[in-house]
Amino acid sequence: MTSPAQSYRVFARKYRPRSFAEVIGQDHIVRALSAAIAKERVGQAYILVGPRGVGKTTTARIIAKSMNCANGPSVEPCLECAPCVDIEHGSDIDVIEIDGASNNGVDDVRGIRDAVQTHPIRNRRKIYIIDEVQRLSGQAFDALLKTLEEPPAHAMFLFATTDPHKIPDTIVSRCQIFEFRRIREVDVQAKLQFVCDQEGVTVPSEVLAAIARGCRGGMRDAESMLDQLLSTADGALSLDDLESLSGLARPERWLRLFEAVANDDAKVILLEIAGFLEVGGTERDFVEQSVDALRDLLHVALLGEDSLGVEPSPERKQQMVELARTLGRDRMEGIMGMIFSLESRIQRSPLGARALLEYTMLRAARINQFFDLANLLNNGEVTSAPAAAPAARKAITPAAPVVTPVVAPAPTVAPAAEVKPEPVVEQTPALNFNQMLEQLGKVRPTLASIIKNYLVSSDITASEVVVTLRQAHGADLSVLEDPVEQHALRELSFSPLPWRLAFKVPPKVTVNPTVESLVQEFDGQHE
Ligand SMILES: [Zn+2]
Repeated sequence: MTSPAQSYRVFARKYRPRSFAEVIGQDHIVRALSAAIAKERVGQAYILVGPRGVGKTTTARIIAKSMNCANGPSVEPCLECAPCVDIEHGSDIDVIEIDGASNNGVDDVRGIRDAVQTHPIRNRRKIYIIDEVQRLSGQAFDALLKTLEEPPAHAMFLFATTDPHKIPDTIVSRCQIFEFRRIREVDVQAKLQFVCDQEGVTVPSEVLAAIARGCRGGMRDAESMLDQLLSTADGALSLDDLESLSGLARPERWLRLFEAVANDDAKVILLEIAGFLEVGGTERDFVEQSVDALRDLLHVALLGEDSLGVEPSPERKQQMVELARTLGRDRMEGIMGMIFSLESRIQRSPLGARALLEYTMLRAARINQFFDLANLLNNGEVTSAPAAAPAARKAITPAAPVVTPVVAPAPTVAPAAEVKPEPVVEQTPALNFNQMLEQLGKVRPTLASIIKNYLVSSDITASEVVVTLRQAHGADLSVLEDPVEQHALRELSFSPLPWRLAFKVPPKVTVNPTVESLVQEFDGQHE
């Protein structure tokens, strides 16, 4: 049996893309380079920017082949001529690969500066591929800059970096930039399946999906993980093997945990925490990964992709959107805040870390009791429905006068359809909604006038006055969103009940309600 490190190299090399046709998820770069070659306007220095393992160095080699192929230059290098073969093996005399992390001194770069002046021995171009270029020292960058200011016509530089901010502007301004994207989960999974097929091994698709998910858009990590899994596990592979190998909680764990939080299921919460710690994760890992998982929920529900910009598989996406809807934005933000503060508490008392963790997650499950869920803008669709009522009812005393329900459609706007007042016990004469709105105009004229303009309906329930508005925009929306105004509406002296504003969501058949209300909350737009 080979060691994981060896087999990793074997896999990565074996299935490394050799041509642009095999590069996954970076079509925009391929297009740009094709156009440059077709117009004979290929630059002399490129920075390849992107997270690790998405194919920067691989692409640099393919670019080198494209430029130096005996049958080129072409974005479809032949892969058979001497330059193509040698570049493939990293042994081409005119294509020099340098690791910026270990050759980062000024002397190393001076060596390049001198060598670059001599003509290529065999090929069209003398190409320097510098990996991790951001690791060069300041002096080394200075030396490099001199070369970049007046490079000989045969020279080409391909800099790969995960961290472009660490490259001096003077260098960046002399380069063209190729930005690499994280690879979509489904594409990673497809590639892993391809590898398995080629290797003649069977791996359950749920394991491949979990690897694809866990590598967060990095193909190399995914291939490495698969490789290690195949070399260490015997027999059929399972998600448990993956979890104990990688220390990475499987995505389902977070979904299960947060579902339990949403349902206040204390038993499952404790079991999930125990499960996480059992497979080798630490309490701090938990903090980090659980916050990431929450962010992902929010991002997927809002943007359709996770916080790293990776689009999850359709099934997972659906699950995440549903969970986000159950939890609601307020709760997710509240839980995130609790987990963040947990981090510093764990630092202060590491011995009680596990108890703190459990306590925090159990409290998170009860968060409804601590948070006012009357969300101004989401029309109750994102916040969980059972949560709102107890909190709101608590706010009124038993002796509070009950208001006659009134229907107050705006004269110019709404058909008087939406109003469904709850039955009330007694009918005490009090101000009706229109009268209260007039009162509001005296104390907060701007707010009152905006409410009048957007009013669809008002609904006086047992616990609150729900004011439904058309979706507002711009400055009007800012006023309606203003926490000070919201607070005022909850404490109106002339109203026995707090007011809550809600926006009427236009009916759209295909729109997911969570996405819709989140989009509205952020005043965003669908693409
Ligand atoms: Zn060739």
